[in-house]
Amino acid sequence: MNKRSVTIWLVRDTCRVEDNPSLNLALETAGQSGTACFALACLEPRRWEHYQFGLARTGSAWRSFRANALIQLRTELLQHDISLWIGAGDPSALVGQIREQFTISAIITDLPLATEETEENRRLQNLGVKVLTTQSDELFEATNIHSALERLPCSFTQFRKTIEKDGSIVPALPVKFSGLGSPVAQIWLDPPELHEARNIDKHRYAQPGWQQYLESGALSTYKKTRNALEGANMSSRLSAWLAHGCLSVRRAWHDTLEYEENYGANESTYWLRFELLWREFFRWYSRHIGSALFTKTSKNDVCKVNPSESVLFESWCSGNTGVDIIDAAMRELTQTGWLSNRGRQLVASHLIYEYGLDWRLGAAWFESQLVDFDVASNWGNWAYIAGVGADPRGGRIFDLESQAERYDPKKTYRDRWLGLSPKKSEH
Ligand code: FAD
Repeated sequence: MNKRSVTIWLVRDTCRVEDNPSLNLALETAGQSGTACFALACLEPRRWEHYQFGLARTGSAWRSFRANALIQLRTELLQHDISLWIGAGDPSALVGQIREQFTISAIITDLPLATEETEENRRLQNLGVKVLTTQSDELFEATNIHSALERLPCSFTQFRKTIEKDGSIVPALPVKFSGLGSPVAQIWLDPPELHEARNIDKHRYAQPGWQQYLESGALSTYKKTRNALEGANMSSRLSAWLAHGCLSVRRAWHDTLEYEENYGANESTYWLRFELLWREFFRWYSRHIGSALFTKTSKNDVCKVNPSESVLFESWCSGNTGVDIIDAAMRELTQTGWLSNRGRQLVASHLIYEYGLDWRLGAAWFESQLVDFDVASNWGNWAYIAGVGADPRGGRIFDLESQAERYDPKKTYRDRWLGLSPKKSEH
């Protein structure tokens, strides 16, 4: 019996239908080859089961968010008659199973962000499958910013200025979903017996607060508030939505431009785009330096520390260092999966410069806790603070006492997370 031919959209960190070049390319490719198209999301053991430095690769906050993002994606795709198969396993293992029942015409996925995705794609190619990659989650097309990419590994400022100097470089408009009206019928296919994840349908998916943030007018004061340690609408809270790809970064960028047309532009409205450029920078930086993103060391780094044997590391993770601003922030992180940018900087500075521990332990702990974990932003920021990344100043040391005084003058943040005052919900 002839096997049916299929084109697969391999879902990586872009869990959305709108403004999704990978999905559009998959549908186009399916159209051209006359094959059916479906989406495949893999719960890769590297992320869902493995450990680094004895720490889980992902924590409950990230897993829960991703599970909900996939459920939402499945619902949205179904509205377009596209099925999403979710399986627990490495992409090559799952694709191997799929090949027992189908001929795979091509696999379409995002341009790899770091080494693990590159390796996974290589394993797929080794199966003899055609793998096409496309940029899905950046502001700019590589061809439009080649002058900035040529300068890598440069500092963020050099990267940003090269882009901003050329006024003609603007992020592409979000692209429309191309599936509707496509000549290819998206045939519903029953998935083969993939090892389907069981923990995938527990949580309710919350709507992004992004629209609400824009409507609140808080963007007009963003630059003044974004470093706050607590409080509603102090920063955009876009990070988890961007990290899981539920919202397109190009959409967010263009929304700020629209906001400016309606409410006026100022330094704050620009500043959110400035921050999105940091994200962009780390993505290209990660691709440029490859595995060095995880291995660059400073003179203090030995990484022989077994986290469970290190009293210092353990006290930092659990928020029991005795430094109240650090303990409050670390407790917020473990209890919520999120921490303000300033909070992240302070605890990173403490681990590296007060405790003299290897920055990679801190990055691994963040990876296991953050709801918005993003490989390029997390490891890039940690390396930057440790002075082994893209920071021309050679690391960032924060004076914790003066920072606490400046950002928590009435100790409300510290009292709240140290259990000295009742916790209030911020969302
Ligand atoms: P906002 O201040 O509203 O910023 C808007 C968006 O801009 C963010 O959502 C994010 O996408 C981007 N952005 C802002 N600052 C940075 C930055 N320094 N680097 C890269 N992108 C930035 N961000 C992540 O998304 N995932 C991570 O794993 C992550 N790890 C970090 C680790 C350390 C040690 C530090 C210092 C920063 C890290 N950041 C990370 C960056 C930043 O702290 C968060 O993006 C931000 O605090 C999230 O809150 P927000 O969405 O309200 O940010």
